[in-house]
Amino acid sequence: MLGRFIFFLGCLSAGAALGAWLDTYWPQRQALAWGLLMAAVLWMLQDIVRAGQFLSWLRHDQPNEDGPKAGVWGDITSRVRRLLRTRERQTSESQARLHDFLSAMQASPNGVMLLDGGSHIEWCNQTSAMHFGLDPKRDLMQTIGNLVRDPGFASYMAARDFRSSMTMPGRDSTPSRPVTLSVQLHPYGDGRKLLLSRDITLLEQAEAMRRDFVANVSHEIRTPLTVLAGFVETLQTLKLGESERQQYLALMAQQADRMQSLVSDLLTLSRLEGSAPPGVDALVSVPALMRQLETDALSLSQVMGEAGSADHQFVFDCDFDGFLAGTASELFSAMGNLVSNAVRYTPADGHITVSIRPRADGCLVFSVADTGPGIAAEHLGRLTERFYRVDRSRSRETGGTGLGLAIVKHVAQRHGAVLSIASTMGRGSVFSLVFPSQRVVLAATASDAHTAKSNPFFPLDAPSSDAAAISGLV
Ligand code: ADP
Repeated sequence: MLGRFIFFLGCLSAGAALGAWLDTYWPQRQALAWGLLMAAVLWMLQDIVRAGQFLSWLRHDQPNEDGPKAGVWGDITSRVRRLLRTRERQTSESQARLHDFLSAMQASPNGVMLLDGGSHIEWCNQTSAMHFGLDPKRDLMQTIGNLVRDPGFASYMAARDFRSSMTMPGRDSTPSRPVTLSVQLHPYGDGRKLLLSRDITLLEQAEAMRRDFVANVSHEIRTPLTVLAGFVETLQTLKLGESERQQYLALMAQQADRMQSLVSDLLTLSRLEGSAPPGVDALVSVPALMRQLETDALSLSQVMGEAGSADHQFVFDCDFDGFLAGTASELFSAMGNLVSNAVRYTPADGHITVSIRPRADGCLVFSVADTGPGIAAEHLGRLTERFYRVDRSRSRETGGTGLGLAIVKHVAQRHGAVLSIASTMGRGSVFSLVFPSQRVVLAATASDAHTAKSNPFFPLDAPSSDAAAISGLV
């Protein structure tokens, strides 16, 4: 401002000097007026030049460069430049925020679609595009109703009641692999809508499994309960001889045992599902485990033999002197279930070979081979499903709960092992558990610390509850 004033005084002095020089022609006053006029003209000329510079600077593509530097125009230029920089920073910040926001919506596991007032697609993430079979670029600004042709969705849009969600088949849904979507519209702003979609196929499957499970458990418990209630009524109403009474009581005890095994297997399953996977600290002695399996298998076969149904030829082959890292009761339960299945399903005089041996890659293979009836190939994939039975009557006759192989599968998974089943109809089956080398510890390398922490199978002196459960299956 001071510069501008000095410049103005300069103009004035130049005008006055010119007036003095012309004094000979005009009186003094006129000379001063000339001076002032000159000052004003010079002032105006300078302003016009600076304003021109400012305008050309504003019109420039990059207004941050050059522009008037001095005087009021210089001041205005630097203020405008600062304002522009602030705006530019704000714009790039809000662009970055928008980018982050869209990336977050893109990362959402659910489908997100923005529709304008006319239900045209303004934006959608990849998941939404996949759910509805759209191309997020090509289908922009298309009407959603023209692209999603499901009748349920069309009537949902037409009803304009978006308080609850609707379900519809996903674009990739096929009869063999159904995909179910849960879709809901959320109105916002000026007639706009947010369309959220979620793949609920697994949820629906889990719900169906839960329903099946409850139905199966109820059915399994109702059968022995009905039989028990029948016997109780018979005992209450009929006058029976002592031997008949004893016979009925024995049958009642059998049904009660059946319910007990079922409840115990259900509890085992829920324990397996609800607890953390076993660590590698506790070691289970493999030879001790095999000895216990042998004792229980022989007694089960003997009990079945007494009942007139079986008497088997056994081979127990333990080719490993070491430990398995895991939970003793779980390992015993899994291996015991495989052995007890072989005993229960193999007819009298059948051969059962139980072996455990290391593989060249360091894994340990436990296998149970029998010469039983075998299992048809179409059943093999479903054997580990809860309550899945190939031979319903044989399973029930021998006290099976239909949960044995489900337990084996869970224990195997928890120990990083793989269960494999091979079977030939009429010739027999082989069930194998392959334990990873990380869980296999040779006796020579097992440290004192490990052996101190090892479980009841080292040494195995008292039969566990699982052992008792196996003996009590029939
Ligand atoms: P269950 O308590 O009925 O034995 P499992 O889950 O242990 O239930 O086994 C599932 C089904 O697999 C059995 O019902 C039976 O039909 C079949 N199965 C299991 N092991 C054998 C085997 N060694 N030989 C023939 N069939 C078997």
